[in-house]
Amino acid sequence: MKRYYLDHAATTLLRPEVRERMQPWLELLGNPSSSHAHGRAAKAAIDVARERVSAQLGVLFGEICFVGSGTEAANLALLGLAIGTTSERRRILVSAAEHHCMLHPGPVLKRLGFELEEIPIDADARVDTEALAEMMGDDVLAVVAMHANNEFGTFNDLAAIRGLCDEHGSLLIVDAVQTAGHYELRPEAMGADIMTFSSHKFGGPKGVGALWIKSGTQVEALVRGGGQERDLRGGTENVAGIVAFADAWDITAERRDIEESAKLAARDAFLAALGPQAIRTVSPGQPTLSGHAHVRFANVLATSLLIAIDRRGVSASSGSACSSGSLDPSHVLLAAGYDMSEAQGGLRFSFGPETTPGEALEAAEIVLAEASRIAGR
Ligand code: PLP
Repeated sequence: MKRYYLDHAATTLLRPEVRERMQPWLELLGNPSSSHAHGRAAKAAIDVARERVSAQLGVLFGEICFVGSGTEAANLALLGLAIGTTSERRRILVSAAEHHCMLHPGPVLKRLGFELEEIPIDADARVDTEALAEMMGDDVLAVVAMHANNEFGTFNDLAAIRGLCDEHGSLLIVDAVQTAGHYELRPEAMGADIMTFSSHKFGGPKGVGALWIKSGTQVEALVRGGGQERDLRGGTENVAGIVAFADAWDITAERRDIEESAKLAARDAFLAALGPQAIRTVSPGQPTLSGHAHVRFANVLATSLLIAIDRRGVSASSGSACSSGSLDPSHVLLAAGYDMSEAQGGLRFSFGPETTPGEALEAAEIVLAEASRIAGR
């Protein structure tokens, strides 16, 4: 049976060139903390990777910290800030549309004496800036707002959010996991103080993440040990993974124009083939990530449809990767104002550069046939 992978927002294919180039580093003997030649070679490879990532972002070399995932990057941003800050501010405002990695540290933050409050979002999962303006105050340490949402694919108005942070002297933490590599990012111009990334979303291996932390931002390590990553993240570095992270970012950036157009063509062909039976989640005209389509079908539970299309070769998702397969409706759809039954119908199809419009059409036929069968149409 032919398989169609329409879940690129969950993870992407490890680019073959990246796999090939990381191979020697998997076999490398030296520990980057060792002062002998083997160790120095490993350390140099990490430094080159850091240089390349900082060049992609237009930031300082020393502002990049490699970690073990996008989730760890988010936890270091939030919890590391909470334990590292000398400020008296104790409120952290987090968009209700954030990935769980930014929302679930809430109870730990509470134990540390901080209050994590959810910022309401609009029907397109974007931060409601009027509601945020009302919540802001001089006791807000940080605001958390993602660049693009992993379920809806929509973008936050970071300029407006930064403006509100400036009025109150608050920091802005931006999860750029869905856009890193695929879109040109300039963290400072985008108004961020901390930005988080994950390698497997742009053709790198799973289990490698990074953060940009603007110089002077008070973040303390959560993992302590040998003082690696300038004392921000102890533990012997994943040299091959870090090299691959930088490689994957560079390759994705080089091919950005071609790949974004390819994803867009596949996505648009898919949506056109689904036709009016598919109810689109995002408002017409609202910009989204080029490979993203979020829809539902009347009287069709997402979980039933996902199982049915999986049997026929189509892999897609009902929301964030960690909740796919579970019956819980997406917290993003609920926060965006959808009722329980609408939220239980939400489906995310996300396209990669290798998906052809022809394959998108074939997959759409399967999705339509199964949705009609389930709905009894
Ligand atoms: N943030 C967003 C927006 C994501 O989509 C994801 C992954 O789905 C993460 C964070 C977590 O990244 P990782 O899978 O590397 O932990």
